[in-house]
Amino acid sequence: MSRAAEAVRLDGKVASAAVVERLRAELATLPFVPRLQFVRVGEDPASASYVRSKERIAQRVGVESSTVVLPEGVGTADVRALVERFNADEQVDGILVQLPLPGVDASAVLAAIDPAKDVDGLHPVNVGLLWGGGPGLAPATPLGVLALLDHYAVPVAGKRAVVVGRSNLVGKPLAALLLQRDATVTVAHSKTTDLAAVTRSADVLVAAVGRPRLITPAMVKPGAAVLDVGLTREDGAIVGDVDPGVAGVAGHLTPMPGGTGPMTVVMVIANTIVAARRRRGA
Ligand code: NAP
Repeated sequence: MSRAAEAVRLDGKVASAAVVERLRAELATLPFVPRLQFVRVGEDPASASYVRSKERIAQRVGVESSTVVLPEGVGTADVRALVERFNADEQVDGILVQLPLPGVDASAVLAAIDPAKDVDGLHPVNVGLLWGGGPGLAPATPLGVLALLDHYAVPVAGKRAVVVGRSNLVGKPLAALLLQRDATVTVAHSKTTDLAAVTRSADVLVAAVGRPRLITPAMVKPGAAVLDVGLTREDGAIVGDVDPGVAGVAGHLTPMPGGTGPMTVVMVIANTIVAARRRRGA
């Protein structure tokens, strides 16, 4: 019996390396070096590691970055005051406050960031601009999903896209971006009835849930592009929302890890360059 063809791998390492090269070339044409300021609170190892990988890519691209780490127990007003200092600093083009913020009102901090420097795209003004189609800054993970599809020339316009997950960080902004790109978009969530029937309608299926192997082969339309954003640690290994067996049904599939994750990191740096160009009028 012949074995079904495996899905084309949507390799985030390959695609993010291509974006790094494009950004390096872009920076070489600019008369300034963009600067990105990270803020994090406490010593959560995952947060520290996320910021380190963003700093590494910033360096590779040629964007200057630095990080302020505040001790756990710091108050919301202190974090806001720091953000306001960076808002006023002409040399700072982008501000990224790494979530979660233990013991701090994260939405109050995010709302304090100058929208023009909000490279995570989570400020209410940027959320509004995203849905209104204006020139704001969009969150990095959804931007990375689109960049990955573009790198592998997977068409989006006119296609049926299903996003599983409706968070402010991933699901909702991704739905807005897919809509901007002329997909017909459905957003599913924990209250969706017959999730499998919904996901099987997708030409482009994105899982952003955080439930290991939620998306099984039977839930995927043959030939669909499937992108796994979910990320759960299970016995020391990183596990996605998509069952690996989906590779036998899908036309394109992200590996986990090494799919959407590397794209998120590089799109933060891409956003910093966008923010710098706009602010400095270049
Ligand atoms: P979140 O805020 O917890 O949202 C999860 C979403 O999944 C919610 O909308 C929830 O629905 C939905 N959901 C939960 N159980 C479900 C089920 N059984 N069926 C259908 N939908 C279900 O998480 P998030 O911040 O969006 O992150 C999602 C995952 O992506 C996490 O694993 C996170 O670690 C990962 N992540 C990865 C990257 C990356 O770069 N790869 C970046 C960011 C996040 P309700 O709204 O109804 O509760």
